Amino acid sequence: MNGAGSKCYLCGSEEIQPLYESAKPLGDSYRIARCSACSLVQFSPIPSEAAVREFYARYDAAGERESYFRRCRQGYEGSAEARQLELKLDRIAKFAGVSPDLLDVGCGTGVFLDMVRKKGWRGRGIEVSPTAARYARDVFGLDVIEAGIESWPGDGETYDVVTMFDVLEHLRDPIEAVRKIRNRLREGGILVLEVPNQEGLLDRAADVFYHLGWRKPVSALYNLHHIFYFNARSLSRLLRNAGFVILEIGQDSTYVGRVTFENRMIKWGSWTLLKAGRILGMENKLVLTARKEEAVPLQAGGADGGKTDR
Ligand SMILES: [Zn+2]
Repeated sequence: MNGAGSKCYLCGSEEIQPLYESAKPLGDSYRIARCSACSLVQFSPIPSEAAVREFYARYDAAGERESYFRRCRQGYEGSAEARQLELKLDRIAKFAGVSPDLLDVGCGTGVFLDMVRKKGWRGRGIEVSPTAARYARDVFGLDVIEAGIESWPGDGETYDVVTMFDVLEHLRDPIEAVRKIRNRLREGGILVLEVPNQEGLLDRAADVFYHLGWRKPVSALYNLHHIFYFNARSLSRLLRNAGFVILEIGQDSTYVGRVTFENRMIKWGSWTLLKAGRILGMENKLVLTARKEEAVPLQAGGADGGKTDR
């Protein structure tokens, strides 16, 4: 899927269909494409490292992240975000046994790791943003390494649990990242992932609006900060390819109070869609729990040659 005539990143199929044509601010050089064989949606072509870096430099400057993460600070206790993280901890406890050692990939300012520590578990984090990593170390006193998972050489440690919330969709080579995590897990270790759900009600509504000629919601959802867009099927397939057994796939919704909206109508519409998505079982996040499989898979590289294990 890296350009005309190329193959799907995940399954190797050549049945790649354009889903959305370039719509500002996507940029003219990209389109969003969907693999008819495995249903993976992605930017096509996959942006270069330099293009991604350039995008984040602009994104940071816009202050968008600052407002989205405004509650992820000291004093987070009792917030809606903290309650959602509490549910994640309960989910992990169900599979991970007593007092696991945990690595949080993309730990941000460290709120989740602080909650892990309060539970009496041992937690360490890696975080690509220097500002967030410094906050986690200086304010919460956490053990956080400043690195992105793609370039992280590893710390020589192994873990019972690795968590990675809202990271996989940002990566240029998610299979490689998950394989790297697998190597850091102990026997029977657990990986808990959260990614946006491409088949959630929010995305479905954006798709309807796009075909009615209003492209803005698609431009907002399908923006360069997310390179891949998963549904339960494609996410499970990626995990199996990287050597995991799927234990559970659940859903969750973004807390709408986190998001800054340009007007009340859009805020009300998004709130309604998120609520309705919860009722209909079409929430905007997927939460997947997987266990490290002991036998190493045979496939090399990203594509698995179009095997029909979906
Ligand atoms: Zn595919």
